[in-house]
Amino acid sequence: MKFNPADKIQDLQYFGEFGGVNPSISDSSTYTFLAAKSMMDTFEGNQEGCYLYSRHSSPSNLYLGEALAAMEGSESANVCASGMGAITPTLMQMCNQGDHIVSSRTIYGGTYAFLKNFAPKFGIQTSFVDITNLEKVAAAITKNTKVIYCESVSNPLLEVADIIALSKLAKKHGIQLVVDNTFSPLNISPIKLGADVVIHSLTKFINGSSDTVGGVICGTKEFVDSLRNVNDGASMLLGPVMDSLRSASVLKNLRTLHIRIKKHSENALHLAQKFEQDGLKIIYPGLENHPQHELFKNMYNEEYGFGGMLAIDAGSLEKADELMELMQTRNLGYLAVSLGFYKTLFNAPGTATSSEIPIEEQKEMGLTDGLIRFSIGLDNDIERTYQAMKQCMLELKIL
Ligand code: PLP
Repeated sequence: MKFNPADKIQDLQYFGEFGGVNPSISDSSTYTFLAAKSMMDTFEGNQEGCYLYSRHSSPSNLYLGEALAAMEGSESANVCASGMGAITPTLMQMCNQGDHIVSSRTIYGGTYAFLKNFAPKFGIQTSFVDITNLEKVAAAITKNTKVIYCESVSNPLLEVADIIALSKLAKKHGIQLVVDNTFSPLNISPIKLGADVVIHSLTKFINGSSDTVGGVICGTKEFVDSLRNVNDGASMLLGPVMDSLRSASVLKNLRTLHIRIKKHSENALHLAQKFEQDGLKIIYPGLENHPQHELFKNMYNEEYGFGGMLAIDAGSLEKADELMELMQTRNLGYLAVSLGFYKTLFNAPGTATSSEIPIEEQKEMGLTDGLIRFSIGLDNDIERTYQAMKQCMLELKIL
């Protein structure tokens, strides 16, 4: 039967300590042992099912991790305090001094800054490539390469990575494919397509209420256990742990993700099609003119659509700024970074979420000044929103 990520979440059953319909929240940083030997065994990783200390693991984090592993079809998952708290330990765990990463050049600015400016301090170098050009990806691999890194749908240009082909390439070279799936939870299931590790910023669609930051690393049990190892595990030693109270609330929000994603996708497709007909320059993987439209269709879990992210080119930074301010005044969304909220969020990534990327490199990758990235909200009547947005564009002579 076809893998359906939302069904996998639905199939889990939890009871709280007193038969509650939600699991009890673990309100402890440390845990008692009945026998001293069990504590020693837990330290050495030889004892399953015992909790030691909440930076290592906690019942609440394990519940959320289990649900996210089920969603991605991975053996295990480690919940983290932020998306960056998932990305950086993963790469630090996989790479040693002298190792090399081949990364997509169109990635979240924070990830780009980590790879470009921070990882070299530990002797880890990165080549940034056009991830849609498989020949360039292959040519960048060296004998020291340990990881191919990409986003399934990239931030902010919405380029779609060919996960099946990249995974074949990674396997051929005996290296790992790490995919950040933040923009397309449920839409795309990278592990099912051959990725080794999937990362999410839970801050975005998965939590969906813009009230916390969070992250997750989904992978094999062996890899996830290695991250938590008390002697050399990057998650354990760098310490980006999520608080139990938060992970309990993220788990509750995760249960409505399938409904939200369908609505985000439906609304984004509606706006993309309408604005395309109006002659606006628009990037959305659900449009036939998107360069990877067919590829997306080849990889996606169809019922969740093409996702809630789209980008338009307003022509110049000035026009982009004017449009965003006007749309906010008319309550069509918020001028804010981040994504996956009930309300539409927009920003001009060249000066915001991708500002870590030097201007020349932004130009090379096609990130124009006037680009506005939209995270389309859960608007009940999206045609009404379209009419109001169009009015703003007409007033500003963008249309
Ligand atoms: N990955 C992507 C694609 C993102 O857009 C972001 C944040 O914007 C991150 C990772 C980092 O996540 P966080 O802000 O939760 O650390």
